[in-house]
Amino acid sequence: MKEVLMGYQGEMSLKGLNKNQFESALLKILRYRLKDLGPFRIYCAQSTFYMEPQSDEIDMDTAYDRVSKVFGLAAVSRSVVCEKDFAVICRTAEEYLGENLRTVKTFKVEARRSDKNFPMKSPELMRELGAYLLERHNYLRVDVHQPQFKVIVEIRDYGAYIHGPKKPGAGGLPVGTSGRALNLLSGGIDSPVAAYRMAKRGLALHHVHFASPPYTSERARLKVKALAQLTSVYTGGCTLYVVPYTKPQEYIRDNAPSMLFTVLMRRSMMRIANAIARHTGCEALVTGESLAQVASQTVQALQCTDTAQDLPVLRPLIGLDKTEIIETARAIGTFETSILPYEDCCTIFTPPHPKIRPELAEILAAEASMPELAALEEQAARNAEKIRIRIGDEVDFE
Ligand code: ATP
Ligand code: MG
Repeated sequence: MKEVLMGYQGEMSLKGLNKNQFESALLKILRYRLKDLGPFRIYCAQSTFYMEPQSDEIDMDTAYDRVSKVFGLAAVSRSVVCEKDFAVICRTAEEYLGENLRTVKTFKVEARRSDKNFPMKSPELMRELGAYLLERHNYLRVDVHQPQFKVIVEIRDYGAYIHGPKKPGAGGLPVGTSGRALNLLSGGIDSPVAAYRMAKRGLALHHVHFASPPYTSERARLKVKALAQLTSVYTGGCTLYVVPYTKPQEYIRDNAPSMLFTVLMRRSMMRIANAIARHTGCEALVTGESLAQVASQTVQALQCTDTAQDLPVLRPLIGLDKTEIIETARAIGTFETSILPYEDCCTIFTPPHPKIRPELAEILAAEASMPELAALEEQAARNAEKIRIRIGDEVDFE
């Protein structure tokens, strides 16, 4: 039996004249994601992506799992292809899915016929194949509304594709089709989730992390690297820029009113992120901020942060509760690493009473009395360490 993977388009099928661009981007990503597993023939026809292994040695479980994490596909299936002949279809369905049918009590056959030259219409094919399978599994009952298992047959140009229920794909749009942004990656729970959410909307990402040694440790830096590696299955390969932030941060601590410290620091981080973004072709910044989560995430504080620089700041978690964010963090596999207790530079020097509704005028006045800050920020941006993150890198951090 010849197994293939099929990927079904979601939102990109609505892209009209631009659809080709989205399809070729996704083809490239699928080829890249499956490359090291062995030879595949990968193509798109009738809005479906076909991934045909060209060797029997290929680990199809891993391939299926990887494809289900690629943004751009609404659903994926793992099917077997056979000749478009009713008798062959029956035998193949039994051989491929008979084992699954033995584990359930109710089932249903679904058929779709895009090749209209096939002599049986879909309802007839469903009925006849259903009868054939019932004969071989006399304990089964057909339930058209809530079957425990579905046998699906798709009669397409290149053959008859037979499979069980489709599994949901990662959804969204192919990474890169919306441009590229720079994600502010801390060691916390939120920012890896923010990266995941924006990559899902088609943004390729790089990350920037602010480290303040010796206040923050080498372990904290490695934790952030591990988070970038973990999210790379979704975001794709990227670069993590680690900014040596100690000097600007100490300078702000020593030269500004302590109740404004956090917002001043966040503006400073945004300016540095802006400089790195412009150097690396990123057209927006991404953060894991969520409204009112902490003092620096009130509407007034966000206004102050936004005016620090001129790239759009995307905050995909702005309207989510922590519990919702945690749910996603668990699903994408970053939660366990995020909760490991290493200090972040955002939590050092934090004043006991940060101003919750800072006014832009007082922030600008505070900055005006820090003449050396701009140079320190420039230097920090210039000295950022570059760490290459490749998809599938071994993550060795506990
Ligand atoms: P937590 O789960 O602890 O809230 P967090 O990453 O959201 O983690 P916050 O202090 O709420 O931490 O920071 C808000 C946002 O600012 C983060 O989501 C992240 O985008 C950015 N950020 C915070 N600290 C850093 C840092 N050291 N380097 C880069 N970005 C940071
Ligand atoms: Mg947060």
